[in-house]
Amino acid sequence: MMPQDQLGRHLRDLRISVTDRCNFRCSYCMPAGQPHPFLPLDCLLSFDEITRITEVLTGLGVTKARLTGGEPLIRPGIEKLVAALADLNGISDLAMITNGYFLPKKAKSLKDAGLHRLTVSLDSLDNRVFRCMNGNLADSQRVLAGIAAAEQAGFSPLKINTVVQRGVNDHTIVDLARYFKDRGHIVRFIEYMDAGTLNGWRMENVVSAAEIVAKIDAVMPLEPIEANYHGEVARRYRYRDGSGEMGIIASVTQPFCGACNRLRLSADGRLYTCLFARQGLNIRELLRRNNSDDDLASIFMATWQNRTDHYSETRDKTSPHFQEKIEMHYIGG
Ligand code: SAM
Ligand code: SF4
Ligand code: SF4
Repeated sequence: MMPQDQLGRHLRDLRISVTDRCNFRCSYCMPAGQPHPFLPLDCLLSFDEITRITEVLTGLGVTKARLTGGEPLIRPGIEKLVAALADLNGISDLAMITNGYFLPKKAKSLKDAGLHRLTVSLDSLDNRVFRCMNGNLADSQRVLAGIAAAEQAGFSPLKINTVVQRGVNDHTIVDLARYFKDRGHIVRFIEYMDAGTLNGWRMENVVSAAEIVAKIDAVMPLEPIEANYHGEVARRYRYRDGSGEMGIIASVTQPFCGACNRLRLSADGRLYTCLFARQGLNIRELLRRNNSDDDLASIFMATWQNRTDHYSETRDKTSPHFQEKIEMHYIGG
């Protein structure tokens, strides 16, 4: 049976964080100078455990899996996990989101392992702006080299994720949109979110989806197009000259909780029903207590059926969620 949660939503999409560590310190995610206590390595789920959980979840409706982190490409041997997940019958869409730094070395082996799709995060082509956003740890040229390696390996079109922050990179978004439009990739501009507790988020720093679209439309005219499927997070737009499309993820100004069909598995084996959750169900304990697949399926089913999350629709500052949200690099974006 395909479970529905308390708001009538079905489960479809699993985000799997394979590590909480990262080689960048993006100001909106793991700001430099803040403490980021990492999980001990022996707490991480093994690839066999992740594969088993995913397989059980396919029985409850999951068809889409996305590997994330932290930075997924710093988990040694990640291609083995990709291969195991690609082999699962129920998974028809297997994707990864990465900061791109290690793609020059990894893109081909990911393709060979069976990864279907790649999203690369890049906040600006302007190197000074980009370094300012990533903790001064990488050049935009390095990510562009990763993107070139991904193209060469056959991952085209790519999705490019760009978080937009007022006064930080908003003056560079038109150049970035044009650059990737001309190369056939799909940029998705993301409204800066109040994820975690460390980034000092303020509403004034958010550039709304409406502003982003207006800025790009003024130079490269756009028109909205239909979602690819129910529950698609990005609102899609087509360039009127027929040269491609872009998207906006408007989690702050136009929340999409009503269609949210995502479950998140953290690197240490906790299952979260919302990006802004405080607590997750400890699956690692369950696995190591010799529960059968049927036992696990019943527990996952009950977790989904009890789900009431809709944080972005309320953004309630008095809610305990507001003070104690889990950090983004721990749960995955
Ligand atoms: N390290 C990989 C990367 O950056 O692509 C994967 C993990 S990262 C947490 C996943 C996505 O979340 C990235 O596209 C990142 O830009 C986005 N993200 C992180 N913090 C965010 C925030 N506060 N608001 C909006 N998006 C955020
Ligand atoms: Fe690392 Fe991705 Fe977070 Fe940036 S957004 S710090 S690359 S996990
Ligand atoms: Fe889904 Fe939670 Fe985001 Fe709403 S706030 S879309 S329920 S993850």
